[in-house]
Amino acid sequence: MSTKTGSCLCGGIEYEVSGPMREIIGCHCEQCRKTSGHHVAATNVAKADLTMTSDATLTWYHASDTAQRGFCNTCGGNVFWERLEGDKISIFAGTLDLPTELPFKRHIFVKDKADYFTPPEGDEVFAESD
Ligand SMILES: [Zn+2]
Ligand SMILES: [Zn+2]
Repeated sequence: MSTKTGSCLCGGIEYEVSGPMREIIGCHCEQCRKTSGHHVAATNVAKADLTMTSDATLTWYHASDTAQRGFCNTCGGNVFWERLEGDKISIFAGTLDLPTELPFKRHIFVKDKADYFTPPEGDEVFAESD
């Protein structure tokens, strides 16, 4: 498995992933809508496989008692989501350097989705988590 890299727009957050990455899942929950401005499309990886090559502008927002969201305090890029107790971390797919080579066919928390968006025909859709 080759190393994948990614960053926020300004480069204050840069990371490398050395292990397998999950397929991309779209999350349409209110927290993802309100922080991203749309819905979130994210892969996830083992925390042990993620190396921060720069965390100079990384700020964590505790969106709930159980999870936090990592964003850039300079360019505003949304980069990470993680449960406080867990061994995986979600990486927002748009921050990956291309090509990602990851499929995107699944959507969760569609019950909370915005009225202007409909998942593509044939995608897997879940009202809450999958
Ligand atoms: Zn940035
Ligand atoms: Zn969400």
